[in-house]
Amino acid sequence: MSASIDPIKLDRLAEVAIKIGLQLQPGQDLLLTAPSAALPLVRRIAEHAYKAGAGLVTPILSDEAVTLARYRFAPDDSFDRAAGWLYQGMSQAFAANTARLAIVGDNPMLLSGEDPAKVARASKANSVAYQPALEKIVNFEINWNIIAYPTLSWAKLVFPNDEDDVAVAKLADAIFAASRVDTDDAVDSWRKHNAVLRSRTEWLNGQRFSALHYSGPGTDLTVGLADGHEWEGGASTARNGITCNANIPTEEVFTTPHARRVTGHVVSTKPLSYQGSLIDNIEVRFDEGRIVAAKASRGEEVLNKVLDIDEGARRLGEVALVPHSSPISKSGLLFFNTLFDENAACHIALGQCYSKCFVDGDKLTPEQIAAQGGNKSFIHIDWMIGSDQTDIDGIHADGRRVPVFRKGEWA
Ligand code: ZN
Ligand code: ZN
Repeated sequence: MSASIDPIKLDRLAEVAIKIGLQLQPGQDLLLTAPSAALPLVRRIAEHAYKAGAGLVTPILSDEAVTLARYRFAPDDSFDRAAGWLYQGMSQAFAANTARLAIVGDNPMLLSGEDPAKVARASKANSVAYQPALEKIVNFEINWNIIAYPTLSWAKLVFPNDEDDVAVAKLADAIFAASRVDTDDAVDSWRKHNAVLRSRTEWLNGQRFSALHYSGPGTDLTVGLADGHEWEGGASTARNGITCNANIPTEEVFTTPHARRVTGHVVSTKPLSYQGSLIDNIEVRFDEGRIVAAKASRGEEVLNKVLDIDEGARRLGEVALVPHSSPISKSGLLFFNTLFDENAACHIALGQCYSKCFVDGDKLTPEQIAAQGGNKSFIHIDWMIGSDQTDIDGIHADGRRVPVFRKGEWA
């Protein structure tokens, strides 16, 4: 492990992941995925998991050099393949109540120098193969959690002008601060943070808006909300009955937009790092919920490939509110990672919706979710549309408007 990563805070991050992120239950198994560079955190997590009574902890590691070897040396038809057998196994594990923890930390630009057509093919093959496992995650059938580890390759992207050790130390500090493990009682500070987020979702759920209207530079967008939508944020309860914090960090409250009732145009306010490519200055126009025009100043080809993955990729699956004063926004950093960057600004997501963002969502069939406006897709990609100039009104069914955000903050 890099000497510049504080071992006490790293251990606290592992403890928060097990106790808050997962609320791992005695006897529950844990499936863990991580970059090989994050092994020091994997080991801390295994220890906290077993102390909490985990039945079996199974780590699966990825490695940047192994990934690149495929792009350099694999035969062409490799790029239409994916480890479907592995994802089938994951799906089986989730069906048997195994919890899921993902550590992110790979260099977000790892594939930026590779052939975009191969990247897109590999990504599509992976998305399709991953569907049986992803379905159980998006339907929140088990407790799951994502946290981050400050790898050197990621740190050098966020802090390109610093020496290796300094860059890692800075990224580690930024991750620890955003993940609220820079205080002595991190578990308690998470309980307080969850209470604040709950007060926001309770207010929004009481309002029952039929739509949100966004305005700001380059943006005039009306997002219809799904029938029977429910706002979520902070801790929530999976279908297996366990209350967990899926994302660490998290600053957002979010719900399901209506896949057929989005109109107007919107621009991105931060670059989107998508599977090794950077997509910047996105501008899209919606008609009856569908993106009918899209451009970007950088990565437009990747954006258009994403939109063509399936019909649902052109429609929204999530709308999320994050104040501009959020700690991650105040850090002023671009992490090139959605887990962090989405918590710096209001965002929307293309693709799959979350069934838990419906009233009684765990009892709805996929057909009912679709009828109520929930979107279906192989992808779920968040991108940032909020800034300190974002105004948002909630619109009631009778047309009455209520200020929700003014200049990027809760009204
Ligand atoms: Zn979100
Ligand atoms: Zn999302």
